[in-house]
Amino acid sequence: MTFRSKAFEIAQGRVAPSLTPPTEKVADLYGSNTFSDDVMKTLLSAEAYTKISNAIRSGSTIDREVADEVSAAMKSWAISKGATHYTHWFQPLTGTTAEKHDSFFDLTIDGKAVEKFKGSALVQQEPDASSFPSGGLRATFEARGYTGWDPSSPAFLMDNGAGGKTLCIPSVFISYTGEALDYKAPLLKSLVMLDKAATSVCQFFNRDVDKVTPTLGIEQEYFLVDKALYYARPDLLMAGRTVFGHSPARGQQLDDHYFGSISPRVNAFMVDFEFEALKLGIPVRTRHNEVAPGQYECAPTFEEVNLAIDHNALLMDLMQKVGDRHNFQVLFHEKPFAGINGSGKHNNWSLSTDTGINLLAPTSKPKENLRFLTFLMNVVKAVHDHADLLRASISSAGNEHRLGANEAPPSIVSVFLGNELTNMLEELVNKGEITLEKGENFYYKLGITRIPNLQRDNTDRNRTSPFCFTGNKFEYRAVGSSQNSASPMIVLNTIVANQLLEFKKEMDERLAAGEEKKVATVEILKRYFTESKNILFEGNGYSEEWVEEAKSRGLSNIKETYDALHAYTTERTITAFERMGVLTSRELHARYEIELENYVKKLQIESRVIGDLALNHIVSTVVKYQFKLAQTARSLTDLDMLEEAAPIKEIIKDISTHIVIIKKLVHEMTEQRKTANNIEDLFERAKMYGSEVKGFFEEIRYHVDKLELLIDDEDWPLAKYREMLFLE
Ligand code: ADP
Ligand code: MG
Repeated sequence: MTFRSKAFEIAQGRVAPSLTPPTEKVADLYGSNTFSDDVMKTLLSAEAYTKISNAIRSGSTIDREVADEVSAAMKSWAISKGATHYTHWFQPLTGTTAEKHDSFFDLTIDGKAVEKFKGSALVQQEPDASSFPSGGLRATFEARGYTGWDPSSPAFLMDNGAGGKTLCIPSVFISYTGEALDYKAPLLKSLVMLDKAATSVCQFFNRDVDKVTPTLGIEQEYFLVDKALYYARPDLLMAGRTVFGHSPARGQQLDDHYFGSISPRVNAFMVDFEFEALKLGIPVRTRHNEVAPGQYECAPTFEEVNLAIDHNALLMDLMQKVGDRHNFQVLFHEKPFAGINGSGKHNNWSLSTDTGINLLAPTSKPKENLRFLTFLMNVVKAVHDHADLLRASISSAGNEHRLGANEAPPSIVSVFLGNELTNMLEELVNKGEITLEKGENFYYKLGITRIPNLQRDNTDRNRTSPFCFTGNKFEYRAVGSSQNSASPMIVLNTIVANQLLEFKKEMDERLAAGEEKKVATVEILKRYFTESKNILFEGNGYSEEWVEEAKSRGLSNIKETYDALHAYTTERTITAFERMGVLTSRELHARYEIELENYVKKLQIESRVIGDLALNHIVSTVVKYQFKLAQTARSLTDLDMLEEAAPIKEIIKDISTHIVIIKKLVHEMTEQRKTANNIEDLFERAKMYGSEVKGFFEEIRYHVDKLELLIDDEDWPLAKYREMLFLE
């Protein structure tokens, strides 16, 4: 029995575990493992509570005394709920989350056991940071890095299974010299800037708006594979994706998986992690099967961006942990299986005011709709001006398989607004006579009153667009499923903040010159529309025609990650980011390097896995099978059954042909890898990996997949697609 068939047998024999769902109502359960506002209200003095609430709302600093009071309350709350350790929980540029647990337990000078957690430990910690990526920002000899408490994201309790619980404190991670080494630090800065910029623009329309909060709802796609089969796939284990595997006879062509009924085992897993997520204050609401077999999606209700991103990172971690309990491996890779859809992370983004307005929602009042159009057009203009950077923010070795692969948004950044809105904007530019004297009629003439007719339920939603307006928010659909959403959100927040400030500047100038407010607004928006019109696209983003048309419009179509990342270091990017104070030129260059390095490492691992599997698993197995065939053929020949032996000899020859090619290709690929590894310049190394080394992947795969069809099913060493994808 092969390891594979044993794994399949185990996987097939598993049934849904019986769960005892919590007896509390969801509303009571929600957030019960977080140091929430309610908990703070109960445990803190009125003064400390007010100070911390202000810090959360407006970013004011928390003094040491308050920190001491909060840490004492956090400690007693956490210990009462079974926590033994605490950690600063942060998001280094590895793309995962990091934690280093310290025990509350300590000894006093006279050797007595106590439980300790001071304000200073809450506010700042110093993990040994030398092995986190820094892109040259932090030489190893000065490996100090600091983590700092982010009070705007509630501390939570992470269950370590048998090992008790840990109090996790969401934190930023910076170098000794103050540069950001993580996603959260620049994200928080971008949020502050966007708030400032958007609030100042809001003032033209609603003077009572004091704060604008960007909101984010993240739809997370993923695959589930049984653990036993996962272990029978060294490529999944090492690289997160299958480098070989022939498509099953039935893939997703019947569309029978999408929104289909959820199998009991999968359902049990979902119910389980959702309850855990709810306890952590993650408002998960939606679950369904996705397009590909074995693919699923979950989506929480939208939240403030920083919180939504923390929650998504936490959710991914949690899903993996709960998956272990259910003998599932959760695959977050963008393209774990060839021939069927990959996974994305759709980022639904909007702006909401402290007065309860969604700035990207059209209303039935003409005046409010001018505000709506202002924000809409500023986003479009920002995306138009920084399309390459937005593309860079989602570039990775994994996502490269999706983008432009006719199943996910293309690598051309375009914006979908829907016919209604586009026509209306056209009309605004072409026919908009401005007759202010007629009051409200002014808007009527501009066609602005038509906006309320917009279908809010996205009837004409375009699934092939990377960045689409969906009635009251934008959806950035090109984000990779394994990515930290902070990366695209830092970019989006920053470019929109930058753009809104541009708008404000021009408005102020025009108003100072005596222009009427409405006229000024409309004039600017008209110009924005004309300037950014070439990025608007309503058609099929997967089509060849679009590639051609985009080219004639002069839009970028950057296919390769190593080229796409370049946008991080252009003059345009640096100017915008430094102006907004989100990342310095040095930090941007560091991020560029880290991403290139990640890319090289991923491809290096994949290439090694491909070489190893091809030679040590595939070729070795196939040779044994060939020997069996040869024996059969010889026996037949001995019996003078030459005609019968002929087809067997053919198979032997076919197999040999593939083996010879595979051996040759693996050898060549390894040589290319060696050459690439010796290239000093990081970009050139990444390019060599992305073009030369990667160039062998598909070719080797082709021959291995052909062998899969030739070899006796019993002998094939790797779990097959149909075994991994169609488990019920
Ligand atoms: P649909 O299912 O048609 O895509 P939903 O209204 O269910 O539309 O929203 C999809 C995602 O968008 C959800 O994650 C949701 O939380 C999020 N979302 C809805 N409104 C907003 C908003 N104002 N800001 C950010 N995200 C939002
Ligand atoms: Mg979706």
